[in-house]
Amino acid sequence: MSNRFLTPLKRLSPIVWTHSVLDRLGGRILVYVGVTFVFGWLGLAVLISEFHEQLVMSQNERAVLLITRGVSSGLRTIMLAGDAEIAEDFSKNLQNINGLVDFRILRPDGSEAFRTNETIRLVNQRLGGERFHPRKRENKVQVLPSDSTTLKNVLGNGHEVPIYERDPLNGAPLLTFFAPIPNQDECRPCHGQNDPFRGLIKLTMSLSQANHEIHQARWWIFGLGTLIAAAVMLIIHQAVCRSAVAPLERMARILGDDHHHGDPDRSVPVTGCAEFRQVATAFNHMSSQLSSAWFDLREEHDKLTTILLGTREGIVVTDRENRIVLVNPSAERFIGKSADEIRTQGFMTLFDDPEHMRALLDDHVHELPGLVLHNERMLQIHAANIRDSAGHPIGSAAMIRDVTREKALEDELRKLSNTDPLTGLFNRRRFDAALLEEYDRAKRYGLILGLLLFDVDHFKRFNDTHGHDQGDRVLKAIAEVMRTHFRSVDHPCRYGGEEFCAIMPSTGSSGVNRSAERLRQSVEAMVVDGLKVTVSIGVAIFPECGREGPEAMLKAADLALYQAKRLGRNRVCPFTPELAATPPA
Ligand code: GH3
Ligand code: MG
Ligand code: MG
Repeated sequence: MSNRFLTPLKRLSPIVWTHSVLDRLGGRILVYVGVTFVFGWLGLAVLISEFHEQLVMSQNERAVLLITRGVSSGLRTIMLAGDAEIAEDFSKNLQNINGLVDFRILRPDGSEAFRTNETIRLVNQRLGGERFHPRKRENKVQVLPSDSTTLKNVLGNGHEVPIYERDPLNGAPLLTFFAPIPNQDECRPCHGQNDPFRGLIKLTMSLSQANHEIHQARWWIFGLGTLIAAAVMLIIHQAVCRSAVAPLERMARILGDDHHHGDPDRSVPVTGCAEFRQVATAFNHMSSQLSSAWFDLREEHDKLTTILLGTREGIVVTDRENRIVLVNPSAERFIGKSADEIRTQGFMTLFDDPEHMRALLDDHVHELPGLVLHNERMLQIHAANIRDSAGHPIGSAAMIRDVTREKALEDELRKLSNTDPLTGLFNRRRFDAALLEEYDRAKRYGLILGLLLFDVDHFKRFNDTHGHDQGDRVLKAIAEVMRTHFRSVDHPCRYGGEEFCAIMPSTGSSGVNRSAERLRQSVEAMVVDGLKVTVSIGVAIFPECGREGPEAMLKAADLALYQAKRLGRNRVCPFTPELAATPPA
């Protein structure tokens, strides 16, 4: 079954309905008030009906008491008139009264009066003669046992005793009332002087009618009470809805209104009860303050966005879940992908090397180059974790600069600073650095290192004869010879003026001397504009020349070069320790 059909059915389910009612303030108040009222009313109704029942019963007892007193006084009057039979009839007739279930006059021993001649005999004996005629048939009926507690209570204390019981035949409620018949002065001549009571009255009344009335009253109380409870609940519900729920709903409607485009300024009407007016005023104040802060923030946000979007630096920012939340157009251009593609591929693979990115973000690694060659561009990346004021990471940011041009210029500059402009060979600065490097390596790894230093013979004279420009052309030609002569691992350099040198790593004495001799021959064979020059070459080999350092090695090559000059020029001369002792020419 589709959801379209299920939804209305679900709404009808009692659980869902109860939940939706309890979810609302009005419904909740109605339920709370209802439950409180129902329990309160039930308690009150039980109390009222109990009280009512007791009232009815005590009225019953009073009524029966009055009846017994009336009967007692009627009997006395009849008896004093001297006619016991009329008294008997009177007693019998009373039994026929509607609602009176039983009526008997009992003697102090619990037997029913007017049944035997016992009393007549006693009275006649007291009065003398036959004042009362004995009855023809005697039938003694013992209503209460002579030792009955009721009998003792009634005759001993002279109190009336009510007993509530049920009819053993039909279970109907009964009230049996025992009342003493006092032995008054007028009665004593017949009934003797001794006993304070001459008997007792037993009167049994049916309480069916009274009970029926009590039940009816109970139904009235409950019915009326339920109606009043329902009415009160409805009135309370309406009152609460009007005074509390409606203002709250109005407030919620205004707060939930989505037409403010993020602006928190949502003033609510200051109406309703004092508390709601207070809340509304406080809310409006807070809202206007928030709104002004929101406008300031928005302004700052707009400025920042303009800067971020317009800057030539590429910027990529992530949130705390490492989701990319900002990619500016420069970043798109540098990375060579659209913002969506960048978002999909993730922050760590911006430049296809997650390890490098992780290392850049690592707070403990500070000396990373941060340079990446990407899409034929040299990009400089500053990556950092963004932290809140408590120092917890809330995202990452990468700032990307295109340094291709700067890098090229830097390289050019470095090259220029290391290159001799006339010959294109490495210059003295580069030579010094290379010699230091190679010397250290050779020393550390026990390698051999060759160095040769040469000088153009009688170049001053050449310049003087053919001019300085011609001299320059010769120097360029010598550089060209050097370039083709040496291996790629060697370092040919212009040492200065018409002096040149070359570092030859891992090359021993014979190799360097052979190479120097071939170089000397190549220069000798070289013809520049019909002119020829020769060179004198000094050679030094590490470690044979000593271990005092690169300067000492250079000095050794220089001494060898002077030795070559001394020996007549145009020759190769290796350094020997004796040269160090030879005084300069
Ligand atoms: P030798 O070395 O054989 O003892 O004699 P030399 O004439 O070459 O003497 P020295 O080394 O003292 O002279 C160096 C000369 O080299 C002086 C200078 O005119 C010349 N020279 C130095 N640098 C350059 C340069 O860049 N271009 C030209 N054309 N000549 C230079
Ligand atoms: Mg020189
Ligand atoms: Mg020279």
